Amino acid sequence: MSRQQIEKVGWDFDHSYIKLPKDFFAQQSPIAVSNPKLILLNEPLLKFLGLNKENLSPEAWSNIFSGNEIPEKAYPVAQAYAGHQFGHFTLLGDGRAVLLGEQISPNGERFDIQFKGSGQTPYSRRGDGRAALGPMLREYIISEAMHALNIPTTRSLAVVATGDSVIRDEELPGAILTRVAKSHIRVGTFQFASTLNDVNKLKILADYTIDRHYPACKEKANPYLAFLKAVIERQALLVSQWMHVGFIHGVMNTDNMSISGETIDYGPCAFMDRYHPETVFSSIDRQGRYAYCNQPPIAQWNLARFAETLLPLIDQDTDKSIQLASQSVNSFSEQFQKTWLQGMRQKIGLFDEEASDVNLINELLVLMQKNKADYTLTFRHLSSDAILEDTIFKDVSFNAWYKKWLHRIQKQTEGEEASRLMMLKHNPAIIPRNYLVEKALSTAVNDQDYRFLNDFIAALQKPYEDLKVYNEPPLDEDTSYQTFCGT
Ligand code: AMP
Ligand code: MG
Repeated sequence: MSRQQIEKVGWDFDHSYIKLPKDFFAQQSPIAVSNPKLILLNEPLLKFLGLNKENLSPEAWSNIFSGNEIPEKAYPVAQAYAGHQFGHFTLLGDGRAVLLGEQISPNGERFDIQFKGSGQTPYSRRGDGRAALGPMLREYIISEAMHALNIPTTRSLAVVATGDSVIRDEELPGAILTRVAKSHIRVGTFQFASTLNDVNKLKILADYTIDRHYPACKEKANPYLAFLKAVIERQALLVSQWMHVGFIHGVMNTDNMSISGETIDYGPCAFMDRYHPETVFSSIDRQGRYAYCNQPPIAQWNLARFAETLLPLIDQDTDKSIQLASQSVNSFSEQFQKTWLQGMRQKIGLFDEEASDVNLINELLVLMQKNKADYTLTFRHLSSDAILEDTIFKDVSFNAWYKKWLHRIQKQTEGEEASRLMMLKHNPAIIPRNYLVEKALSTAVNDQDYRFLNDFIAALQKPYEDLKVYNEPPLDEDTSYQTFCGT
């Protein structure tokens, strides 16, 4: 492919991250692959980023999104970071990813363009630097579904099969995912900065991140405390949004928590079918550390680790700094509860607020757990007569709850119909259910048949439409479903 052709793509890279001290990255090009083949290309996202789709053949895209042809303006680096993994501190870094640069979109926003699975880097430790096709398609499906659900997330621009195998428990086809993010600065990036024992470098990272993601903090009396508070606020909102749709991240290590407030690092994540607060899918999470109901306290734990890194910047007096940071971290629970309740009120059609609403919501959740009700469909069905056909409706306690709830929405000035319309907008019909994700992956990976994968991705773009097949719960109990990390 000619240089002219690559430049036609429309990359408009800037490179602000590499102006940080050299400790924060290592120059690293993607390592060429044998036979790249484009599997998925996100056309709306291409357009949004100002990348031209015209006149380029699938071969040309395959070369671009495999890293076999690197755009002239790219300056690929692997980023350094650290993190608490299941509570244990480790030095990490991009072991299988490189940042090509920051694309400035036509509307002036800045997005990291990162290849995941692009070969070894100085941070690979014992890893091969590669990724398997199944998990990269999985990240594409779920991140794009999250985006359609209006939940802040990194996005997926393309998946290219490399033509090379990767060895896991078995030999699998390799792939590269192109990930788009507001940035890849993580809680773990700040933890890494702390290990440098150089307050100046920490300050440079903090100033850079504030400029990039939280510029309003610069005007505050204590910009670093304001920064901490702003990050806490975004995480409280993010995790409450996960809880509203039954999303379980699965590996909330501090290196997998983005400072910008986007969901990042889709590994063993999954959506819950039947409601149970202790649901956990990840095969390596034997203690349930990252179970559905533990997500808020774990987010707070991670934010405490983040706050610790900022202590030298918040105040010169360590005691005062600790006091201010602790106060902020402690406010997480209240903030989470507030945004969670706001969203749950919308899910059951409440416009106004009553003190007893929280009980009304919790009673419903208890009844859903008792009746092994499908989390997504129970809320969806509540907005129409469909609920009358659900098994949960046969439960007399649910019946009593239902009457109480009807009474509550009927007495609002907006009226019952307005409530039902609001519920339809806040309760998705279609989520990336595990059995459907598995079907999309197995037909794509084992049979090279991409039809179901593409149809499923299209259906997930319209989560609030009751489209048959995609909105159905699994037939069998899904309790044995397991997801895997680091593949
Ligand atoms: P993750 O579980 O995806 O958040 O990754 C944890 C750490 O392991 C990160 O530093 C990754 O870059 C690294 N890692 C995961 N898979 C590989 C691999 N195949 N080769 C090298 N590093 C990897
Ligand atoms: Mg990670």
